[in-house]
Amino acid sequence: MKRFLYLLLITITITRLDISGQEASRKGAGLKAGLAAVVITPSKPVWMAGYAARTKPAAGKLHDLKAKALAIEDEEGNRVVLVTSDLLGFTQDLAGSITDRAARDFNLRRDQIILNASHTHSGPVVRQSLIGAYDLPADQVALINEYSAELEDRIVDLIGRSLKDLAPARLSYGVGLAGFAMNRRLPTPKGIVGGVNPDGVVDRDVPVLRVETPAGKVRGIVFGYACHNTTLTGEFLQYSGDYAGFAALAVEAEHPGATALFVAGCGADVNPSPRSRLDLAEDHGQELAQAVESVIQGKRTTVEGTIRTAYDLAALPFATPPSQADYEKRLTDQSVFVRRHARRMLDRLERNGRLEAEYPCPVQVLRIGNDFTLVAIGGEVVTDYSLRLKKEIDGRVWVAGYTNDVFAYVPSARMYDEGGYEVNESMIYYDHPVAFSPETEGVIIRRIHALLKMTGGKRRQ
Ligand SMILES: [Zn+2]
Repeated sequence: MKRFLYLLLITITITRLDISGQEASRKGAGLKAGLAAVVITPSKPVWMAGYAARTKPAAGKLHDLKAKALAIEDEEGNRVVLVTSDLLGFTQDLAGSITDRAARDFNLRRDQIILNASHTHSGPVVRQSLIGAYDLPADQVALINEYSAELEDRIVDLIGRSLKDLAPARLSYGVGLAGFAMNRRLPTPKGIVGGVNPDGVVDRDVPVLRVETPAGKVRGIVFGYACHNTTLTGEFLQYSGDYAGFAALAVEAEHPGATALFVAGCGADVNPSPRSRLDLAEDHGQELAQAVESVIQGKRTTVEGTIRTAYDLAALPFATPPSQADYEKRLTDQSVFVRRHARRMLDRLERNGRLEAEYPCPVQVLRIGNDFTLVAIGGEVVTDYSLRLKKEIDGRVWVAGYTNDVFAYVPSARMYDEGGYEVNESMIYYDHPVAFSPETEGVIIRRIHALLKMTGGKRRQ
């Protein structure tokens, strides 16, 4: 009996190898993939990004911060490079410098580079990000500029190395589930407050892209989750990638030699639950890594065919801004952030004679073959966008937020009646004159469908 089982096992193993061998020659043989990673932990104590309440710079690290890149090339030479990072967000300025240099050095068009940030609140401030949020000592401005210049160099080099690493690869896609994402907009008689709302919308999907050699060895694992990367709150002063960083470490430990890239989804109205303890960040990371592993070992669909990319800026309209007199009144507000914001807006009014009417939000679409679509939107995008786009777009759809420029929250139309932090208060920290107008959602969705059409994608009927 034992001998029989042993033979059966061998037979099954051989059969499986045969199938993978056949698939390698038949399916996805046209794609190449390249992977690279770089440590981006600041060597000096640069101020940490994301919480206004911090009063001290960083003190050491829990683990290294990383930026990682996956380059993909099809048979016709169409390329795309996805960069992920343990950062709060790229800015227009930083993304612009990186993509200009990548155009010059590697001949990559803007639509061929996707820059996603994990939105860890345990990473460094980069230049021109959330300017209104921090009370920075003078020496920090120089440190932040110095760090940002180094970061730019490292990411350009990272993109180059991922392209040099291009080799035949097979790609496959599946979706898992992790449960710790919890809506944080709690309705109360006084309006929406920050809290834990089990009845609120949430998208707990864990999209996973597996990149392997033609022989089936895992080289790269791209995974996503739509939840603020904020298990660790403002009192934590050590650099880390928060739950996403712990998840990437766990995935890489399971697959030695492979690179794990985390893509932040549309979870701007969602927090990890529970939070505010280091062991919880590790636990959430483990849970996410297990969800990834279930897809890596489980049923997936092959991703193959032509790579198509498109990029554009959607002009998000602001609501009517307060008058000069209103801003002047705010100069005596009890909140230092409101006072400072009012001062900056008055200075801007005096300098330019007006305030901005809109903000250019990057939107990007990557399609591989006929069935796989990655939509990537700038800003802190709320859950409604990913739920809506997954319904509206045909085929397998992955929706990322926090891509190319994290310039503000991007609320959905229905939230404007509700109000709350994501709609209103956060705009002060992001240095905008006023909330976006409720047309924002329509502007973004229309632009994405236009890009989808350009890349050969279809609306679901
Ligand atoms: Zn955020």
